[in-house]
Amino acid sequence: LSGGRDELLAGLNPQQLEAVTHRGSALLIVAGAGSGKTSVLTRRIALLLREREAWPSQILAITFTNKAAAEMRERVAGLVGDVARGMWISTFHSACVRILRREAEQFGFTKSFTIYDSGDSRALLKRLVKEHDADAFGLTPGAVQSRISKLKNELTDAEGFARQANLSDPAERKFADIFSDYQRALQKANAFDFDDLIGQTVYLFRAFPHVADVYRRRFRHILVDEYQDTNHAQYALIHELTRPVSGQAAESDAFAMNGMMIFEPDPSTGSGAQGAADAEGASLTVVGDSDQSIYAFRGADIRNISEFERDFPGAKVVLLEQNYRSTQNILSAANAVIGNNFDRKAKNLWSDRGPGEKIVGFTGYSQHDEAQFVADEVEALRRAGIPYSEMAVFYRTNSQSRALEEIFIRAAVPYKIMGGTKFYERAEIKDALAYLVAVANPADEMAVRRILNKPRRGIGDVTETSIARFADENGLSFRDALRNAPLLGVGPKIQAAITQLDAVLNEAAEILTPSSGEVPPATSVAEGLTVLLNGSGYFDMLRASRDPQDEARLENLDEFVAVARDFARNNPDGGIADFLTEVALVSDADDLDDESGAVSMMTMHTAKGLEYDAVFVTGVEEDLIPHRISAGEPGGPQEERRLFYVGITRARKRLHLSLAMTRAQFGEVTVAMPSRFLQEIPGDLIDWRQSPGDVNSRGGTQSRALNARRPGGFGGRSADPFAPKSLPKGGGLKPLSTAMDRFPNKVTGKVRDNGDLELAAGDRIRHDDFGDGRVEAVTGEGAKRIAHVRFDSAGQKKLLIKIAPITKL
Ligand code: ATP
Ligand code: MG
Repeated sequence: LSGGRDELLAGLNPQQLEAVTHRGSALLIVAGAGSGKTSVLTRRIALLLREREAWPSQILAITFTNKAAAEMRERVAGLVGDVARGMWISTFHSACVRILRREAEQFGFTKSFTIYDSGDSRALLKRLVKEHDADAFGLTPGAVQSRISKLKNELTDAEGFARQANLSDPAERKFADIFSDYQRALQKANAFDFDDLIGQTVYLFRAFPHVADVYRRRFRHILVDEYQDTNHAQYALIHELTRPVSGQAAESDAFAMNGMMIFEPDPSTGSGAQGAADAEGASLTVVGDSDQSIYAFRGADIRNISEFERDFPGAKVVLLEQNYRSTQNILSAANAVIGNNFDRKAKNLWSDRGPGEKIVGFTGYSQHDEAQFVADEVEALRRAGIPYSEMAVFYRTNSQSRALEEIFIRAAVPYKIMGGTKFYERAEIKDALAYLVAVANPADEMAVRRILNKPRRGIGDVTETSIARFADENGLSFRDALRNAPLLGVGPKIQAAITQLDAVLNEAAEILTPSSGEVPPATSVAEGLTVLLNGSGYFDMLRASRDPQDEARLENLDEFVAVARDFARNNPDGGIADFLTEVALVSDADDLDDESGAVSMMTMHTAKGLEYDAVFVTGVEEDLIPHRISAGEPGGPQEERRLFYVGITRARKRLHLSLAMTRAQFGEVTVAMPSRFLQEIPGDLIDWRQSPGDVNSRGGTQSRALNARRPGGFGGRSADPFAPKSLPKGGGLKPLSTAMDRFPNKVTGKVRDNGDLELAAGDRIRHDDFGDGRVEAVTGEGAKRIAHVRFDSAGQKKLLIKIAPITKL
């Protein structure tokens, strides 16, 4: 072990020190963003190892993303060296998959079970909704899916639901039926959906105490980051793991324990095999910030924090107040914004990094204009010494990335999208995965059905139905029915096709799961995959095609084979099940490597826990942040405010807030309004820029004031038409009435309104920025009329007539 105790504790403030060294009772660390919560967890683990208080294998640390897990592992390794390897540092989902792979056989699954991602579940539900004719009851697959997910997060299973539901209501009865059919289908397919991974592990622990004991004995220190975002099922899992060892044993364990076993343990005393030694539950440390709770829509429950002291009596609570991440200006903005949420404990984060630069604000005319500003500013910051990899651009919804990407590509600014690539959601990748699953878990009927006619082999719906019927009648799985092509009652051509598919699957099975029982090498995954894609004719189909899309598909599949090869390199002991697990658990923030010198783009949800020197929060508009869908949700706008708080607290030195006056989305141009959250930031913290790349301007002294080009504008120092500074002093912090929140431009009258300005092709106009030009066409209607203008020097533009800064000549 490298690093002495003093070295490990160096630089911690007194509260952090207390948190790192506390022993005995459960520990809750609550603190605002950037106050060192994750750092404290990391040091705590390092100290436990350093002082030999725990073996690496006795530590279970839970993080929110795989990326966060990798980072924590690296940081611990940096502090104490290589011993960090035996630890379980993982997400809830990965930890549960590991447990289930070992234990699934206890309750009717095999260890090669499939993990259904959200798309797989949706496909299954689509079929069930159709079978149940549930459309008529307003039960769409999406609605059913999210309701089932919510119930599972509450640990309510299909039977539990049926017991408590009002089944005299036909819609409720339908839902209950679909839920239980869904569960049965999963079980039959030897599959777990995402929520099941957690829920079924809890079930496993409750139903088989001797299994739970194995993990209770093993994990003596459990640490959870981002605790505010745990849902009930995750909470229950932690609770199960931290209980004292029950001492109940299964027969098989009893023999394993060399006669030391008490055969009939008394559960009430908790005494058993090693009960006395482990009478105490594992030590539990959780860290969280209720102001950063952003997953209520997925069932996260802030009460897990507020009720911690009740659930873990004698728990120690440590508060951290110093922020080490951001400069004071950024922090003051964050404090001001979050201060508008009611129902929260006030905390005041402070920083000794000095005031730092002001926040930069920018209002673009359109989202392209906004994107141009971001790209120009990125370049200016890089010239000032901040590397691309230390910059990040955030948005509320994935679709906002497109305009940014376009401009970044044109400006040759390197970027990477985190969570947006959706590589594993592409049809060809899903097909390849289905081939692998059909071999690894032949019980997974959906996978087998998916590949049945891909590539086309003339197997249509009729044949598929005959196969299913044959399987049913003979008590076979769908996969096994394929082994009996001659008995299916289909024509000779189709028979041959089925026989060939069966042969390819068998060939790959010999590679991936040899009948000899031998453990295949990790390279078998890439090998098996290649055999499947070649033998099935999938590669040939794409190669023969002239569709350029198919060429891209071919490249994606090559990439996928490369992923399988990488897997073999990184997991010399891994097999097909491990590979499928890894693929299934790739989450939003995972597909990124920090080495690449690129600007990161991601949603604000994905940004949680990360930090960058320079951050751009874009689209700071009503209906985006807070998002439109949050308006009707109880607590919705407050959750959006927390999300915005998460976004701005990622910045170390530079924060940019930008918006666009018009936004084209889904083929419609809408007039955007500044987010209410902007108005909550004290005006003197923001420096509004006038034009893209106007890096030097400060307070409107160096460039034309926008006021001038917007008649009916406003006074005050700010040059931005939407700027909150035009409000009475101090008004920025007052909660505004709902009506004003929703229509700030009406209240302040800041948006240009050209009324029903008559324009037709051939007219000459003057634009405040672009100068004179000629209207080439007018499209759209009413408030959405657009002028297509060719400017004498500024080129072609599309302008929303109602609000563009134009006059007719
Ligand atoms: P978040 O709420 O965003 O998850 P956090 O509370 O987990 O934030 P960390 O990410 O642990 O905060 O720390 C924020 C930054 O402050 C990191 O760069 C970390 O290295 C640094 N930091 C934490 N504690 C100290 C300290 N005592 N001295 C110097 N730097 C520190
Ligand atoms: Mg953190």
